Amino acid sequence: MTRIELIDIVKTFGGVNACDGVDLLIEEREFVTLLGPSGCGKSTTLNLIAGLDDVTSGTILMNGKRVNELSPYQRDVAMVFQQYALYPHMTVAENIGFTLRLRKRPKSEIRERVQRVAELLELTALLDRLPRELSGGQQQRVAIGRAVIREPGVFLFDEPFSNLDAALRIRMRSEVRQLHDRLGVTSVFVTHDQEEAMSISDRIAVMRLGKVEQFGTPEEIYSTPVSKYVAQFVGSPRMNILDGELLRSGKQTDFRFGPIVIPLGAQAATIGAIDGNRIELGIRSEHVRIGDSGLPAMVRFVQPIGPETHVTVGWNDTAQTLIARVPGIVRLQPGAQVDVVLDPASMLFFDPETGNRIAGA
Ligand code: ATP
Repeated sequence: MTRIELIDIVKTFGGVNACDGVDLLIEEREFVTLLGPSGCGKSTTLNLIAGLDDVTSGTILMNGKRVNELSPYQRDVAMVFQQYALYPHMTVAENIGFTLRLRKRPKSEIRERVQRVAELLELTALLDRLPRELSGGQQQRVAIGRAVIREPGVFLFDEPFSNLDAALRIRMRSEVRQLHDRLGVTSVFVTHDQEEAMSISDRIAVMRLGKVEQFGTPEEIYSTPVSKYVAQFVGSPRMNILDGELLRSGKQTDFRFGPIVIPLGAQAATIGAIDGNRIELGIRSEHVRIGDSGLPAMVRFVQPIGPETHVTVGWNDTAQTLIARVPGIVRLQPGAQVDVVLDPASMLFFDPETGNRIAGA
C-alpha cells in the first residue's frame, strides 16, 4: 500500500518543460489516471514516478519518504507498457517468473508464485506456450503477470491497451480494475482515451501543457469541469459550446448568439461582470432535447449510432450548431424543422479569454 505525492515536479528536456509544476496526491489503494492529449506530459510524469527518469526539480514522496534518489527497484513499483516486450524465446511461465529468477529465488517458490499469478490472470492453460502463440490480449495479460509477480506496492500503466482491439480493450479495463482491487495496490494509469479514464478510475488528473488542470472523480470531471478544456476533453460527443453574449435586463438574463436568443435560468444571475458581456455557453448533448415547443432549429446532420442518435441542428445566419443526443433511432432528415429544448440547469458558462468556468453546475 503506497501513498504517492508529487510536489511541484518540473522536468525539462532541452528547453521544453514536459512537466511544468505537477502537484498530485495519490492516496493508498487509489486508482488514478493521467488523462490528456498527446504531448501533455502524462508519460513523463509516470516515468518520473517509476524512477526511470530524474526530475529537474520538485519532490516525489512515497508513504511520506523522499524517493527522488531511489532506483525503480527500490521504489517498489512495477510498470506495464503499451509494448509488451515479452521475451520471444521464453514460455509464458518463464516470462512471468523471469524477475524471480534474476533475484535467484528457489525454483519451487518461482513455480508456486507463477502458478498463483497465472490463476489470477487466467493464464494457467497457456503457461507452456511461447509469446508468438498468444493473442494480443493474452500477451498483454502475460505482461501484467510479469508485473504482478513482483508484488509491488504501485502499478504503473502506460497506455497498456493501445494495441488491442476495441472489444478486448473494454474487457481488459475491467480485468485490470478488478486486479487492482483484489491486490489492494495503488495504480497510476496513463491514457488519452477519456472513456477509458472515466470507466476505470477513482480519480482522474486531466493534464494540459505539463500541468494538472483538474484532479477529481470521474463525476466531478464530467459534471463540474473547471475549464472548457476539461469540459471538451471528456464526454462524447464533445460538449456543445456556443459563443455569444449576455443580455441583462432587470432580473432576466438572456444569451444571444447570432440571431438566436435563449432565456437563461436562475444560475445566470451568479455570473459577475464580464468584459463586453462575451461568454461561452456549454451544454452536453444529453441536455439538449428535441421537443414540441422550444427553440426552432433546422436539422443539419443525423448520425444513428445504435442505442441513440446524434442530431446536429443549426440556424440561418450563424455557423454555430448544437448536437442533441436522442435515445433510440430517430427518423429525421437534414433540412427538417425541429424545436430544441436546452435545460437551463445543465448549462455551464466559460470565460472566452481564460477558458475558465465562471458559472453553472
Ligand atoms: P503521448 O500520449 O504522445 O505519449 P504524453 O502526454 O505522454 O504524450 P510526454 O511523452 O510526457 O507526453 O511528452 C511531453 C513533452 O515532452 C512532449 O513535448 C515531448 O515531445 C517531450 N519529451 C518527452 N520525452 C522527451 C525526451 N526524452 N526528449 C525530449 N523531449 C521529450
